[in-house]
Amino acid sequence: MSISLTFKETMSGYFTLGVTDPAEGAKAGKQNNTQLAMHAKVSLDDLDRFLSDPNHLGSLTGTVDFPPFGTGIAANSGVFNLFKPTNDPDMTYMVYELAFQHQGQDYYLAGHKNVKDDPGFDLWSDTTTLYTCLHQGKDKHGPIVGAGILTLGVKQLADLISTIKVPGATSLAEKAHAIEKFGAFFAGKLWDSYVIPKFGKQLLDKSHDETLHYDVIVIGSGFGGAITGCRLAEKGLKVCILERGRRWEVKDYPRDPKNAWWWSNEKPAELNGWIDLRTYPNMSVAQCSGVGGGSLIYANIFVEAEPFVFDMGWPKEITYESLKPYYEKTGKMLNVQEVPDNQWPAKMKLMQEAAEKSGYSNRFRKMPLAVNFDPDFSYDRADPFGNQHTKYHINAFGQEQGTCVHCGNCDIGCPVKARNTLDLNYIPLAEQHGAVVRPLHLVQRITPLQSGTGYRVDFNVIDIDRKKLAPGFLNAKKVIVAAGTMGTNELLLRCRDQYGTLPNLSSVLGTGWSSNGDFLTPAVFNNRDISPTQGPTITSAIDFLDGSFKGQRFWVQDGGLPNLIKDAVTGLSTDHQYGHFFSILQNLVKNNNPLSCVMPWFGQAVDASDGVLTLSRSRIPPFRHKMQLNWNIKNSEGAVQALIDMHKELSKATGGAAEVPLTWTVLKNLITPHPLGGCRIGTSSIDGVVDHKGEVFGHPGLYIADGSIIPKAIGLNPSRTIAALAERIAELIKP
Ligand SMILES: Cc1cc2nc3c(=O)[nH]c(=O)nc-3n(C[C@H](O)[C@H](O)[C@H](O)COP(=O)(O)OP(=O)(O)OC[C@H]3O[C@@H](n4cnc5c(N)ncnc54)[C@H](O)[C@@H]3O)c2cc1C
Ligand code: SF4
Repeated sequence: MSISLTFKETMSGYFTLGVTDPAEGAKAGKQNNTQLAMHAKVSLDDLDRFLSDPNHLGSLTGTVDFPPFGTGIAANSGVFNLFKPTNDPDMTYMVYELAFQHQGQDYYLAGHKNVKDDPGFDLWSDTTTLYTCLHQGKDKHGPIVGAGILTLGVKQLADLISTIKVPGATSLAEKAHAIEKFGAFFAGKLWDSYVIPKFGKQLLDKSHDETLHYDVIVIGSGFGGAITGCRLAEKGLKVCILERGRRWEVKDYPRDPKNAWWWSNEKPAELNGWIDLRTYPNMSVAQCSGVGGGSLIYANIFVEAEPFVFDMGWPKEITYESLKPYYEKTGKMLNVQEVPDNQWPAKMKLMQEAAEKSGYSNRFRKMPLAVNFDPDFSYDRADPFGNQHTKYHINAFGQEQGTCVHCGNCDIGCPVKARNTLDLNYIPLAEQHGAVVRPLHLVQRITPLQSGTGYRVDFNVIDIDRKKLAPGFLNAKKVIVAAGTMGTNELLLRCRDQYGTLPNLSSVLGTGWSSNGDFLTPAVFNNRDISPTQGPTITSAIDFLDGSFKGQRFWVQDGGLPNLIKDAVTGLSTDHQYGHFFSILQNLVKNNNPLSCVMPWFGQAVDASDGVLTLSRSRIPPFRHKMQLNWNIKNSEGAVQALIDMHKELSKATGGAAEVPLTWTVLKNLITPHPLGGCRIGTSSIDGVVDHKGEVFGHPGLYIADGSIIPKAIGLNPSRTIAALAERIAELIKP
């Protein structure tokens, strides 16, 4: 059912009969002290249509006060439209028109507000100044008999807000949602900078229900969310985990181009798939969406950070030694193991050979992987990668899992559940202790309860089949935000700067963002079979984190490509900022130089961690807020280049040719699966967003437990450090 919305608005100002230009009419009206007031009731019969279709008009009725004619003159018809497109692409009109009669004569009062997207854009005056003409007759084709300028003052705006009604809303939450939607559209920045700080709480409070539904609400179910949710449920707390993505089953993993690959926070009803790929100037960020978060997509590397990481930039309570017990706990939970010596894929052998031939044998490391291996697996079998070779068993959490068949599809979901993803350990354990997991719940806002007893969490529930969203909310004593680095920063920036519900969040929110220096360099090895589509996606590393190469800290890993990549590569669009990289892959496939000859050297580096996330309004209607990343490669270029130089050196030592993508050599564009920071852990709100226990400065009972609290790059895969911090945060929360 469509939702309608009504409000009352009074605009008044100087007005004169006998002139045709509003500015002239206002001037003369001021001299003669003649004013006109329009008391309008605006009705929008279908809010969503009104906001999306410029031709769908609202209706206007009301009264007019104009002393030369009288006061309280009834006006029974009229139109209201926001943002009517004009011939000037940078300008839109807001239209107010009202028909009335005086002494048997029809009059038509027609006003428009200019909303201009110029650098000196002043929304307050743009949205509150109505250039108005009085026409004789039933519409604005009649001759102009008077003109002036009407304005909406601060007091009238306050009155307007208090008159908003949402007749079609079936719940208080739906009503609040509709008001918020309309308000942002109606007033753009004005809504954020004036209405929300002044009236936000009052508006939201209209739908306040202070019932505490849970002890703890956890937002997100990746490493931070699944672990804190599980441990707090084990302590006997009533826990609810809200996850925006699906609860994926093996049968639903995306495989075909028609499947649910993409996630979009802007269009969650339509795009609610596996990968959330966000593109910013010079940087793209990939994250997964689903119950289990990044563990669903990750390459299984579950490795501890090196002790030097904690030497600077962390509160004194957090050191490598203090985290060690938690690192161990997480390693046990995810049952980490190395690829058994009898089943190294070719790329792992190349890694070892490259290290040896370049004089770096002592830096070669087998990686701890969250994967179950079968000691009897063999590459020498016919069809070694078939699912029939897996050995199924029930794990310690009652879940069925198989053993690895080296199919290479780790990043797109393991067909035999050999990977120890969080939906197979921490999450079922949480559920066994009473935690409730709600997939397809995209959290929008966190608001402190008026009673001071906790927080309200507003979300949209995604109905995949009907492609619809339904608003809802839940309250809890404590809230743990674990929506991943991008998700958490976005949510908290919105709560501070868009909704004004968490005004005490530190001013350093969004700063100190890091890409963790990730880079992938494909290298071609003629006459050598590397087969990067075989075996777990990453198996080993060559460690330069001691800073001995060009003074930069980094480590190199073997990358892997999903088995189905060959087919997908052919269909990839090169009309994209990563087009050059895609076209290298396409040429390899086309020229019968198959991917089996490609080594995707991968790795991470300690970058400058100086990116800044902010929330800004689009300058054109409907003025949506979007999170922006301000990233400059300048201070990180040395670290990334050192990693690439090592990729080249290792390729050369083993007879390969590194093909550094133009996206780097020319554009210095990066893509990262390891975003970190923005809500860094600190000692006070001056240098951090949370304290060492993960609690948000200025908002007691609100916690953050995910990659966003990591204060700087760690130069290797981060999930185990995030997991260890989450274990620690959960342990320190008192029931
Ligand atoms: C292709 C790929 C490979 C990777 N390989 C590795 C690897 O081998 N080793 C490693 O250590 N790391 C790896 N990573 C990185 C790793 O996945 C992340 O560092 C890790 O998952 C971050 O954990 P987190 O708890 O911060 O967030 P996430 O694990 O990303 O969890 C956040 C969760 O919150 C949900 N969410 C977001 N916004 C909302 C909202 N508004 N409402 C409700 N829910 C929300 C998300 O859907 C997600 O499930 C890889 C990442 C990618 C993309
Ligand atoms: S290679 Fe990865 S996806 Fe394939 S079976 Fe092994 S763990 Fe699973």
